[in-house]
Amino acid sequence: MIDRLRGEGIADEVVLQALGVVPRHLFVEEALASRAYDDVSLPIGSGQTISRPLTVARSCELARAGAPLNRVLEIGTGCGYQAAVLSQIAKEVYSIERIGTLLSGARVRLRSLGYHNVRVKHADGSEALDALFPLNAIVVAAGASALPEHLIELLAPQGRLIIPLGSTKQYLTEVIKLESGYDIKNHDEVSFVPFLSGVVVK
Ligand code: SAH
Repeated sequence: MIDRLRGEGIADEVVLQALGVVPRHLFVEEALASRAYDDVSLPIGSGQTISRPLTVARSCELARAGAPLNRVLEIGTGCGYQAAVLSQIAKEVYSIERIGTLLSGARVRLRSLGYHNVRVKHADGSEALDALFPLNAIVVAAGASALPEHLIELLAPQGRLIIPLGSTKQYLTEVIKLESGYDIKNHDEVSFVPFLSGVVVK
């Protein structure tokens, strides 16, 4: 999987190493474990999916921008895979998920696999999360049709928001917080489950 990611243009060795050590097969159902290292998204329950390894790698590479990360927020914990990868490239990882059953599964999995620098919470990323300021990066794992401006406010200067953005076509979008305002760049075309509001149990 790592050689394939390198061939697809992932150049940050820290990110490649992180994907190399996190056991993706332990984040999906046993019946899907044989496909865990293919470059595909897979179902994780509640109508959600674990993202393709290439997309996880690209998001992490853009979030890191070649520099060590202190505090990172992921929106959309899902099965916890990307949070585990982020735990290898950042000091502190906060991850929130709006679906309660996914969140509790991810919490147990992350704890039992020893990812102790990840904190997960049942919360909605479309609402205020001011307590987490200042963040070096925010990685959103669900596709939004409009830029959630409240997330940019949580970034430290030069911090990055990585978010799948767009209504008809989605692009992995990088927003860089500047001293005043922000810079925005589009990257790969992607396909994510939707960014929704409100917390739910299942
Ligand atoms: N990073 C995950 C991918 C999960 S798919 C993994 O590695 O498995 C995206 C997740 O985002 C879904 O579980 C979905 O419920 C969640 N999500 C969507 N909108 C959200 C929001 N506003 N707040 C929190 N989580 C959200």
